[in-house]
Amino acid sequence: MHNPVTAHSAIGPVEEILRRAGGVSAHTAFPTVDELHAAMEDLRARRPDLVTSERIGTSRLGEPIRRYRVGSGALSALIVGGVHPNEPIGSLTVLHLVEQLIADDDFRGRLDTTWHIVPCADPDGMRLNEGWFATPPIGSATRASSSVRLRTSRSSGRSPSPTRTPTSTG
Ligand SMILES: [Zn+2]
Repeated sequence: MHNPVTAHSAIGPVEEILRRAGGVSAHTAFPTVDELHAAMEDLRARRPDLVTSERIGTSRLGEPIRRYRVGSGALSALIVGGVHPNEPIGSLTVLHLVEQLIADDDFRGRLDTTWHIVPCADPDGMRLNEGWFATPPIGSATRASSSVRLRTSRSSGRSPSPTRTPTSTG
């Protein structure tokens, strides 16, 4: 009997993982909440046969929280970006994942997964961080948790936008 974990969860050899990661274009900024959702809508418009969207909730300040469903595989996966809104790399990663899933039928088919993707779980908190998204401190993508400290230590002369401390650690 085959091992279902191995059969369904292997995303490919290390070489493929490195190739896919290396294919990600360079970024100098993180998307704002509006840019993030606009980019997701662009992807949905590109493959409406694969991507659907629905509102699954409302933030405390009244913003919609959206869930995108990608594909219709046998497995289910939940991917949530922006859980800690000062760590926007998760939302950017979500965009790249969806781009790969809709552009590569073989990749999507091998994963055999229905993807439930929340690009931004906390739009209220993310908006409080958007002031530095266009000019993130160097290294913020890999040291996201220190981005607030790095930002406030910059000597740009600009007032830092308000930042909320996440209510949980991670
Ligand atoms: Zn975190």
